[in-house]
Amino acid sequence: MYRNPELLLTKVYKAVYFPKGLLWVAKKSWRPSYAWSSLWRSKWLFEEETMWRVGNGQSIMIADERWLPSGCLSIYREDVAAECGVVRVSDLLLPGSQQWNNELVNFLYWPPTAASIVKIPLPLVGGCDVRFWPHTVNGEYTTKSGYAVARSKAILAAASSSFSHNVTPKVWKVLWKAPTIPRCRELIWRGCVKILPVRSALRRRGMDVDDMCQWCDSAQETIGHALLFCPVVRRWWFASSLGLRLDSEVEFHEFVAALFSQAEMSVVAVFCQLCYIIWEARNKLIYDGVQPSTEVVLSRAAGLASTTGVAHVPLRNGAVSDVWTRPNEDTIKVNFDAAWADTRGASCGMVARNGAGEVMAAATRPGVDALSPLLAEAAAFRWAMVLSMELGFRTVNFETDCKLLYDAWRMKDLGSSYLFAILSDCKDLVQFFDFCSLSFVRRTGNKVADFMAKRAGDFGDSVWIDEVPQAAMQLILDDVRALVPS
Ligand SMILES: [Zn+2]
Repeated sequence: MYRNPELLLTKVYKAVYFPKGLLWVAKKSWRPSYAWSSLWRSKWLFEEETMWRVGNGQSIMIADERWLPSGCLSIYREDVAAECGVVRVSDLLLPGSQQWNNELVNFLYWPPTAASIVKIPLPLVGGCDVRFWPHTVNGEYTTKSGYAVARSKAILAAASSSFSHNVTPKVWKVLWKAPTIPRCRELIWRGCVKILPVRSALRRRGMDVDDMCQWCDSAQETIGHALLFCPVVRRWWFASSLGLRLDSEVEFHEFVAALFSQAEMSVVAVFCQLCYIIWEARNKLIYDGVQPSTEVVLSRAAGLASTTGVAHVPLRNGAVSDVWTRPNEDTIKVNFDAAWADTRGASCGMVARNGAGEVMAAATRPGVDALSPLLAEAAAFRWAMVLSMELGFRTVNFETDCKLLYDAWRMKDLGSSYLFAILSDCKDLVQFFDFCSLSFVRRTGNKVADFMAKRAGDFGDSVWIDEVPQAAMQLILDDVRALVPS
């Protein structure tokens, strides 16, 4: 068993590795129609919607720019940052390296935010910072997604205009279907049917309470004020991933009706979650006297969002194998997989077999930082490639059970999202092989790699040559047995 086989290799290829800067260019060919054109022309849509992908961090100011994975504005201990001379994201990296300065990040940021920052994948060699469009998988702007965002924004803006909207059955239908947890949906419902116990309502019912808002003390606390229009709350909406500007006040149910009748489901879900967190914060203030910071509110909302699941992408029917198949005689097949846990970070596993089905090597790596399951799969791919080079494999067929990764790899143009930052590293590694490809197999055909990834915590950062750990032996035999004789 060898430990840290990557070390030597990293040195070798860092010397020959030149990252390509991907420039984000807005495509101007799209001609927006009447309503959207003014929206589109105004710079804020682009500036607020595009996000930074961190390369070396030198172009990104830590304040007032969207570079956090959540899409929220970065909020931190400004006084301390000023004292430490932290102005740009590059100041959060260890000097002269492509690693996060964990200590500093934890010092400046609210813990959940700090945890998400140190998971931002950095390119192996610092490239330039890139602007990307967060509404597509590859981070490239498309007319369709631009239109959808412009439309969402317009709907959000219109929702706060003075038009009167009634809550129709269609609105309830949207609410029940919103991909979020039940207690968030219930809160919206209570707000719309006016049974949230805000102070003005209690007062109307004859209770002797001060009906002013406890946050701003400058307006009566209505449902709309408490959840949307209080100056304190408005700041949160603006800093949130929705980047919502709430200008004119309407009643809560009118806002919801206008928003839900047209917005995308994902927007509806985020809206419900933020309302819930804001209501929770309001109660904390009133009952416990605790004033939550914007930071707390936004990271609570991000936490809720991450528990509500990832979009399921159905597989297209096609000639995809259910079982592991042998590679060609002179090829080595490397199956890899990632296991992802939000709190513990990701882990990777791989197994390499030759055309005769014999094991050439197996490896595990625990504690891989990844922002999402998909980025964990991409990180596993990059790790498997580096390891295969180190092991001297020249003709390799890499295999994944992650359809999104496989599809992204096959796209002609590299996008500018974090996924493509890792895949860009992978594309650069291709030159070190005589031949290398990526294929897709169903999960049932990737069981050994899956097992290795899941057990990486026990095995540690390890490589086995010509064998797999004893516990994986049965799975290897199962794969051989499942082979259909051709
Ligand atoms: Zn207020």
